[in-house]
Amino acid sequence: MSTNPHHRRHGHDDIESAPRVRAAESLFSRANQFLAAVWNASDAGMCITAGCSECGALEFRRALATLDGLSPDAPLTTPVALLPEAPGPLASALASVDFGLLRLTPRWYDALDIALFYVRDRGELRFVLDEWVRRDAVPTRILDLVLFRHVRYGFPDARLTDLWLELCLDVAANTCDEGLVESLILTCPERVGADPRAFRAAMEAANHSACVRAIVGRLGECA
Ligand SMILES: [Zn+2]
Repeated sequence: MSTNPHHRRHGHDDIESAPRVRAAESLFSRANQFLAAVWNASDAGMCITAGCSECGALEFRRALATLDGLSPDAPLTTPVALLPEAPGPLASALASVDFGLLRLTPRWYDALDIALFYVRDRGELRFVLDEWVRRDAVPTRILDLVLFRHVRYGFPDARLTDLWLELCLDVAANTCDEGLVESLILTCPERVGADPRAFRAAMEAANHSACVRAIVGRLGECA
């Protein structure tokens, strides 16, 4: 994940798709409860900015909690033990989400970032990742997001972090994606250094990216 400052703004996207295209996209993706919540939040003008310093995307997080079955007046910090058995509706919707439709929703990356933290707080991230690691392909930005925010810190568990890392190493070796390579070096320099294909990808990425160049020396420390 790039450590460059992301373009962030409070509020929703100011770049609207053409109305007819948007209606067709929305029709398909609203079949998934999570995607429907993102479309609704966007239509309602809710802030969908991960880590928003003004509102913490509170209204959107409340909408996710409501779709997950939490009553509208229950605190967002309701203990997991008091919640219905996992996986709840949000984790199930994320587990089965179509990545193509996801990427057509407004502010999808931030919305996903917020939702993944939500399910992690409820101990349900493993249900989502357990499904995703079995997919034929996971988009690179999503691999990187999960790696940088969760897997890097050992979430959701040892088995899934290991599977996710393998997937990331494989995709990084094939694509030399700079953001993914950077996250991998920050997460597990020893594994990148020990994997000849990933190591080559890291060197290649370093040619193009100052961010990767700044940390590529860590591979040598662990060799
Ligand atoms: Zn906000």
